[in-house]
Amino acid sequence: MEKNKNLYGLNTFGMSAVADYYVRATSEDDVMRAIELSCEKKLPLLVLSGGSNMLIVEDLHAVVLHMDTRGIEVEGRDGSDTLVRVAAGEDWHETVMWSIENGYAGMENLAYIPGKVGSSPVQNIGAYGVEARCVIESVEVIDISSGERRVIAASECEFGYRESIFKNSARGRYVIMSVLFRLHSTEGYKLHLDYGNIRAELEKRGIENPTVADVADVVTFIRRSKLPEPSQVGNCGSFFKNPVISRQLYETLIEKHNDMPSYDVEGANDEHWKKIPAAYLIDRAGWKGYRRGCVGVHQNQALVLVHYGGGTGKDVLMLCQDICRDVKEKYGVEISPEVNIINSDFLARCAVGGKVE
Ligand SMILES: Cc1cc2nc3c(=O)[nH]c(=O)nc-3n(C[C@H](O)[C@H](O)[C@H](O)COP(=O)(O)OP(=O)(O)OC[C@H]3O[C@@H](n4cnc5c(N)ncnc54)[C@H](O)[C@@H]3O)c2cc1C
Repeated sequence: MEKNKNLYGLNTFGMSAVADYYVRATSEDDVMRAIELSCEKKLPLLVLSGGSNMLIVEDLHAVVLHMDTRGIEVEGRDGSDTLVRVAAGEDWHETVMWSIENGYAGMENLAYIPGKVGSSPVQNIGAYGVEARCVIESVEVIDISSGERRVIAASECEFGYRESIFKNSARGRYVIMSVLFRLHSTEGYKLHLDYGNIRAELEKRGIENPTVADVADVVTFIRRSKLPEPSQVGNCGSFFKNPVISRQLYETLIEKHNDMPSYDVEGANDEHWKKIPAAYLIDRAGWKGYRRGCVGVHQNQALVLVHYGGGTGKDVLMLCQDICRDVKEKYGVEISPEVNIINSDFLARCAVGGKVE
């Protein structure tokens, strides 16, 4: 346990902020100790994994639990599928590579997403037409306020586009300890190639019959060429979610902006009709490449807010709020952050540790 720990270096935005208490957990006992500390100090417990989806806006009066538990284990088979349990602190990309090296399919489109395994269900990470929910069987958690263990089936996780119960009704309630994945046999497996430039890049390489390893390789290559590396410039990837708008608003907008891309929404009704790329709206509103002191909007990716160093979480948050306001004024569309804004409001919804027997 450390007191007054600066979290710089533990979040990919590269923000400096001090946590009252910090516990790095490499075992379940360490997690229990953090829950006990939270109970003793009457402070909320905040779980921090790779810090690649959080904007820390202020010093944190909290016990910060840094998940660093390890372990990948085959738990069993179900027909041609294999059930694999992965500890929350394992690196996500390394887990994807492990699955491929061991002959499993299902995770390849999710290669090179930063962060750890325990965070993958939180916002149901997704890329290139695949989401974590496609491979998650269940999530093993510890309830912070009681110390009890629970298994939450994927069907109870309420997975949606960058959503789950862990980001909504159960936000701050559990420590995710491990995730059980259902991985597929590569035999007869249908690869997901029709998203982004995957197929074009495979063709460029002369690959006619791609393997899961080829797909992961191509996805990694495309991501590296498109997204800024946090080691070069602070960022959390896409800062905003793509908004889903009503049929009426869509029809008004498309009349004026006939090049505006849109995607169908599963089970759409008139209220939630089309998904619009937030990047299009932010770019057309003139924000791409904009810089304000130490922070800005990436020059090639309108969705990515960046921190050049020496700024604060508040600087990024103010920029985010100005962009949201401007897009609303210009297009009538509400956009909202995908990134977790970590401040006292966020901590107010995090559980305080209960007495652990
Ligand atoms: C360059 C870049 C590209 C990205 N691309 C993508 C992308 O393509 N798709 C995508 O979906 N995301 C993307 N992201 C966002 C990010 O990588 C994911 O959201 C990732 O899952 C965050 O993992 P993390 O371990 O860093 O989580 P953190 O940032 O540490 O935590 C995120 C949230 O989850 C909670 N949490 C973390 N671990 C646990 C746990 N064990 N138990 C309970 N709660 C927990 C935290 O309290 C916090 O609220 C990108 C980020 C970057 C920097």
